[in-house]
Amino acid sequence: MSVGDRIAQRRHCTPKYVGRLFIDRVGIIDGLNPQHITDAMNNMFDMKLDYTTSYRALLYAQTLVRGSAEDGRGVEYLLAIRSEIADTMTVQPIDGWRFFVKGGKMDCVVDLEHGKCDCGVYAVEKIPCSHAIAAGTSVGLHISTLVCPVYSKDFLFAGYSENIYPCVGQQVEERTCFPPEVKRGPGRQKKSRWQSWLELSRMRGRKPRKQHRAYRCSKCKETGHTKPQCKSSSV
Ligand SMILES: [Zn+2]
Ligand SMILES: [Zn+2]
Repeated sequence: MSVGDRIAQRRHCTPKYVGRLFIDRVGIIDGLNPQHITDAMNNMFDMKLDYTTSYRALLYAQTLVRGSAEDGRGVEYLLAIRSEIADTMTVQPIDGWRFFVKGGKMDCVVDLEHGKCDCGVYAVEKIPCSHAIAAGTSVGLHISTLVCPVYSKDFLFAGYSENIYPCVGQQVEERTCFPPEVKRGPGRQKKSRWQSWLELSRMRGRKPRKQHRAYRCSKCKETGHTKPQCKSSSV
């Protein structure tokens, strides 16, 4: 490997990049330690990672997957990452629902009918790997149709559709639960929402943003500040 290659490769070896790549290729992070990440990245991509990078990559991968299991954003997040990787792949149809997908470090045969790919991720997770996304997108399939319906909201709600009774002998405290009080802080609300793969892919389309007009203070009509910061004394 040339020095240039090595430098080009190192630029990508940030913990976040490694964490995402690991989730994309391996999918499962339960019970792993940083050494597993180091070994896997070495075997799959010839990446030489130090302990700190592997450790941080594992932490990052865990927050991606765990954060997701709790709040249900995980699948969309995976799809967002994977569809970005899928964009770099080339697809050749074989027959019916089978495709040969080239790109990344592994060329795969994807079988969309049976939900399988040579990389193994699709069959285990029932969530399409980047190869399956590339194949599906090439024939105009919506990514969501490739995901197993057990990940859908309807399945989640169905699980709680029946009454849930306490176990026999279990003491149930009698009190009314009210929603928590929500206080809205001053200023503009933060926009730190996780974006869906649809929004991300739209963003990648690079539509020109709307031209802003000059914003004026709603109180004194001057530019350069907004009402909360207004120093004008007129009421
Ligand atoms: Zn695959
Ligand atoms: Zn003002």
